Amino acid sequence: MAAPASVPDPTQQPAIQSPGTPAAKPRRDVVDYERLFECVHCGLCLESCPTYVLTRREMDSPRGRIYLMKALAEGRIELDDSTVRHLDLCLGCRGCETACPSGVHYGLLIERAADYVERNHRRSFRERAKRRLISAIFPYPERLRRLIAPLRLAERLHLRGLIRALMPGSVAEWLDLVPRRDERVASDSWMQWTASADGPLALVHHGCVAQVLADSENRNSEHALRAAGFRVIELGETECCGALDLHAGNRERALEFARRNVRALKRSGAEVILSAASGCAAAIAEYGELLKNEPEYAADAREVSARVQDLSSLLVGAKLPVGRELKCVVTYHDSCHLAHGLGVRETPRQLLKSIPGVTLVEMAESDLCCGSAGSYNLTEPAMARELVRRKVDNIIATKADYVVLGNPGCEFQIEAELRRRGAKTRAIHLADFLALANR
Ligand code: SF4
Ligand code: SF4
Repeated sequence: MAAPASVPDPTQQPAIQSPGTPAAKPRRDVVDYERLFECVHCGLCLESCPTYVLTRREMDSPRGRIYLMKALAEGRIELDDSTVRHLDLCLGCRGCETACPSGVHYGLLIERAADYVERNHRRSFRERAKRRLISAIFPYPERLRRLIAPLRLAERLHLRGLIRALMPGSVAEWLDLVPRRDERVASDSWMQWTASADGPLALVHHGCVAQVLADSENRNSEHALRAAGFRVIELGETECCGALDLHAGNRERALEFARRNVRALKRSGAEVILSAASGCAAAIAEYGELLKNEPEYAADAREVSARVQDLSSLLVGAKLPVGRELKCVVTYHDSCHLAHGLGVRETPRQLLKSIPGVTLVEMAESDLCCGSAGSYNLTEPAMARELVRRKVDNIIATKADYVVLGNPGCEFQIEAELRRRGAKTRAIHLADFLALANR
């Protein structure tokens, strides 16, 4: 397939010199250099890579990017705009990891490469401003709340549609990503089951963006756990997990968020740690790796990571009370970090099929990224839009009433496109869907 017209076209391929003819000083701090040799260049990951599937360019594939990282580390190419463009276009979805027979830890490689890019490459003024704005707001719930307060007021006055119509296209698309407050699934319906909980101590990490835009998913996860017999505890205040910074190449602040979370999660005594955002859950599950060289944190980080579990995996074996028959057709979207990061694919489907009245229909390419990918849909809107169009084409083809998923970012991204198309299908998080079934 040719590259879609609206996807940025990195036409200039980086000039890679053959080994032994260095163009620049070797920089072994680009990535964990030894890990690059895990890749045997077989290409079996290519068709699992969303950017390769859309552009058909080797340098937009996992193998191509690994080749670029190696050439950079060995000083055979410069860190120029073209090289950065290919690395920037990576979603960090880790689809290549689960496809790779050699066990390449691509997620770790691209996180380090992103950090290297941010330390060594000067972006355009516009790009720097956009990235700084995202970095200054999203990991801090209070700032995000203040930013969207005018939109919430407009919603109360029934003026959201008018405000959107008055905005330029790109701002209108950003606004589309903010879910409507009055359409969240309330969590009151679970209360009747909360008293009997006497199982393991469970904690839902509320995240940063999720606690502002999708708190129903946190609350409904907690209610579902109580209904299944877990004793649910809460952190007084939840810090960002650091995933946004890791993907954006802001490693130092990601490490600081990780340290604070390790301290708080360890102190909580939680035996089971979850997040309604699969990207956050996968990030916490990586704290052991992230902090392995910090003696003060390494052991606790390993312990915290080992306690990360997924909601569906905990509920599928439990006798979850179901309040009513929910007659509908659903399809399931595999959120990247749930499927590729935590390896969870079957239990959400089993859980959905166990709800009376629910018919599960599989969509094509259910584990191909929807383009949300943390803040990717804000930094790379053209590629993100192409991916969500493809995702929604596949969803609409199922004729489902709901597309159920395990990550708020996917919900915002897919729901915005479903609305733009006027589709009848609604995007909904698994925890909110369970709340619907228990009304
Ligand atoms: S992380 Fe995703 S986008 Fe990046 S190379 Fe791997 S499959 Fe492709
Ligand atoms: S990342 Fe894995 S699947 Fe992809 S080319 Fe390298 S070894 Fe093959």
